[in-house]
Amino acid sequence: MPRDPNLFRVTLLGTGAPPPVLDRFGPSTLVEAGSQKFIFDAGRGAMQRLHQLGIPFADITGMFLTHHHSDHVVGFPDLWLTGWIGRPWGRRNVPLPVWGPKGTKQMMEHLPLAFAVDIRVRSHNYPLDGVKLLPVEITEGVVFDRDGVKVTAFEVDHFAEQLPAYGYRIDYAGRSAALSGDTTFNENLIAHAQGTDLLVHEVTAASGSAAESAAQLKRISANHTTPEQAGEVFTRVKPRLAVYNHLLLFGGATAEDLIPATRKKYSGPLAVGQDLLQIDIGESVEARQFREEK
Ligand SMILES: [Zn+2]
Repeated sequence: MPRDPNLFRVTLLGTGAPPPVLDRFGPSTLVEAGSQKFIFDAGRGAMQRLHQLGIPFADITGMFLTHHHSDHVVGFPDLWLTGWIGRPWGRRNVPLPVWGPKGTKQMMEHLPLAFAVDIRVRSHNYPLDGVKLLPVEITEGVVFDRDGVKVTAFEVDHFAEQLPAYGYRIDYAGRSAALSGDTTFNENLIAHAQGTDLLVHEVTAASGSAAESAAQLKRISANHTTPEQAGEVFTRVKPRLAVYNHLLLFGGATAEDLIPATRKKYSGPLAVGQDLLQIDIGESVEARQFREEK
């Protein structure tokens, strides 16, 4: 199939968090730029969502991890191993580069040990190269630059030094998208995302009794961003579209609460992400819900 060189599309594969719910799978984002495709984080269900899009894992150029919290990586073994199987949704036959923070090498060296029996048995049928992992541990700066796609990692603030965490900015054909990863309000993100076309940002909200939600918020806002704080981020970054993903909702808080809270600080274009929301970045920046053809 001929590729569209102008394609620059971000698809939210999963917009959820640790709660094991069906409507929001774990955090994972697909970025398509020209002929290349990248997955950022691999939460629960990433493989199913990719399959819903009709994209075989063989087509994925590489993976990027923002940090190592389990809700961002538990879907990885599924993508990696199911994606190796020689069926239409898999068929990977070349090694997979995986960029991520310190700890990525350890994870990518040990996963093949954990699945050694499966790999040994299936390698009679499928090429061993297709299950090889090529981990690259990153620091802040340009981490990928090929065929017109540049990926820049920037440090964010999620549990401070206890857990290295990055956001990513993807530049392609004069346009850009930035992904926050998991972070509390962060000046470095604002600097790196400056003027981006699309900013996909995490968010947390709590409601319930005043005391309860104040205590919850104090705890989680040390590591995550409230809608009021995100509103300030968006106002300063001025993206052509801001989209929430990785919704961490506590108490009785719902996705509907996010927009009014953000509007206290931000009046620009804003959408609350759902799984399989697709955003095309071009002359305009447009979001629409992907629907499977049945
Ligand atoms: Zn996290």
